[in-house]
Amino acid sequence: MLSVSAQTLVAATVLVLLIACLLWLVFAFGLKLQPRASKGMAAANVLLASALLLSGLRGGLERPWLTVYAADLTGTAAFALLSLVPAWLEEGRPPWRWPLALCLLALLLMPGFVMGWPMRWHGTVLYCIQAPLLGLASWQAYRLVRSRTRPAFALALSFPLGALTLLLAARAVEPLLWPGNTPDLRSGSGFNVAWLWAGLVLGMVVNSVVAFLVLAQLVLRIRKLTLYDPLTEVLNRRAIGQAMEQAHARWRRGEPYALVLLDMDHFKALNDTLGHGAGDQALKALVGALKPCVRDDDALGRWGGEEFLILLCDTGLAGAALVAERMRANLEAQPLLWGPEQRRLTASFGIAEVLPEDSSPEAVLMRADQGLYQAKRQGRNLVQSRE
Ligand code: GH3
Ligand code: MG
Ligand code: MG
Repeated sequence: MLSVSAQTLVAATVLVLLIACLLWLVFAFGLKLQPRASKGMAAANVLLASALLLSGLRGGLERPWLTVYAADLTGTAAFALLSLVPAWLEEGRPPWRWPLALCLLALLLMPGFVMGWPMRWHGTVLYCIQAPLLGLASWQAYRLVRSRTRPAFALALSFPLGALTLLLAARAVEPLLWPGNTPDLRSGSGFNVAWLWAGLVLGMVVNSVVAFLVLAQLVLRIRKLTLYDPLTEVLNRRAIGQAMEQAHARWRRGEPYALVLLDMDHFKALNDTLGHGAGDQALKALVGALKPCVRDDDALGRWGGEEFLILLCDTGLAGAALVAERMRANLEAQPLLWGPEQRRLTASFGIAEVLPEDSSPEAVLMRADQGLYQAKRQGRNLVQSRE
């Protein structure tokens, strides 16, 4: 039978995994938070719990197909699911080929041990299949976090999965280093007890890290919804307004700034002749033409329907004129292609720099607006500052 400490650890780990499974079901069906990833985590936890339970019962039930083969397959399937979860979190296509191939390998090889292959090789074969699956999961988690933040955070967040991978690898080499020492969970050997402790702690940490990633994705999505315009994906009016307020505060400490306000020319006619779909496409094309002219420190936002505002940090009127002229020429050079139709897109630009008498960014914006009005009156497709 199981020694008390190994038995207790197996029971505690199964309990923790089942509780985690319940929480993931609440995420998936109650809160509808990243449902695919949450369902994947729920299934992975329940499969792992079954695998552990069946391994713990090995010998207790005289049905090796259930306690050996089923335990091996449920464990392998659990790790395969874990390797797919990071892609589901990103809402991308999971790398299913390797997980599927390793699951098939387990499906084909593991019956050998029920049929009579020596059990001392069982752990080595099983964990040589399972460790790469967890390695893949940890690499996927690293890539997901790395695409959004610094490598150090990505390393920290993928570390628990990496440590679990090493844990499985240790189990694979243990019978090779100490032949005859069967890594069977029923025995309360020092190795097994340490291994189960590490598995329990890391199992909890992995669940917490994935839950953190789900919540972080949610926060990023909410941030995007509140700060960005859904059509053009540049800052919305509120966000660019805040950026202007911050620039004005920095100007009081000595850093100048300038504004470029632009409005597309004859946009209503484009909508009326080619339809709103073409109008929307033209807005995206406009943003595509503006972006290469905007530095990281600057801010580009949609001020109204087809009016856009660019905040240029540490820039005066001459610099703003150069940037606006580059934007104007860029836009003019890239006509809108809409089915068989081709339309030249142009916009009029008003520019202004902050002056000592400006008590708020609205005063600067008003001058940029007057410049824009003047550009429209003088024939459009022009850059103007107020005379
Ligand atoms: P002007 O050269 O004087 O600026 O002429 P205009 O036709 O561009 O005039 P105005 O700036 O008043 O036109 C605004 C038009 O922009 C009216 C509205 O139908 C269109 N518009 C505003 N927001 C959107 C949008 O999100 N998508 C589309 N397709 N059209 C929009
Ligand atoms: Mg217009
Ligand atoms: Mg307009």
